Amino acid sequence: MIGAKPAPEETQQCWSCGSMRAAHFCEACGKVQPPAPVDYFSFFGLPRKLNIDVAALDKDFYELSRKLHPDLSARAGSQEQEWSLQQSSRLNDAHRVLKDPIKRTQYLLKLEGVELEEQSKSATEKARATGQVKKQIVPPDLLEEVFELNIQLEELRMQKKAGDDDPALAVEIRQRQLDLEAKHEDLLDELKKYWAEWDALLDREQARAATSQERAHIRDQMLDVLNRRNYIRNLVRDVSEALGD
Ligand SMILES: [Zn+2]
Repeated sequence: MIGAKPAPEETQQCWSCGSMRAAHFCEACGKVQPPAPVDYFSFFGLPRKLNIDVAALDKDFYELSRKLHPDLSARAGSQEQEWSLQQSSRLNDAHRVLKDPIKRTQYLLKLEGVELEEQSKSATEKARATGQVKKQIVPPDLLEEVFELNIQLEELRMQKKAGDDDPALAVEIRQRQLDLEAKHEDLLDELKKYWAEWDALLDREQARAATSQERAHIRDQMLDVLNRRNYIRNLVRDVSEALGD
């Protein structure tokens, strides 16, 4: 390819001074580089591991924020300023997702090709409005609890309709809600147990001592925890609504 000058984004050289460049800005001259299509982990130069040193991540974030800031007067109106805007916005997105334990796990699973259930509030409301049955499976360990809770909620609604008031029932439901919130918290610890397994697996993969089945297995476990967590979160929200919080 002698004589053909590659586009700047295809090179590893600074567009300005020709030095080897970092992903975002040139170590030699400080100029911002064109955005490269990398995932958030790569953006911060991190492996796809789930245990992250959040303090170090924050430190990198603030340092990069300064170096990529689009408002540096020297960059005004230039192509470099445009790149600064794009890089800064990507930096903010990457930082927001990676510093949050749940968002980070969801992001990793997406990178791994796992389809996550859409269980956001808007998705729930949309499903209700269209009368669509949401494919939400009750986690087996919650079957009994959910069954009893639903009976109590139904009772509460009927009482409200009839204008009756049963404080004892409300207290019972409130207690169930607290139990569910505690379970929701516990699931984060369970998730972190799988993080450790995932990170160890990546190390073994480097040594070619891990299988793709193992990889898929840990992914499935994490997905299961996330789905159970979402389920409980939605349930807690339904209870709050029923109690008139
Ligand atoms: Zn340079």
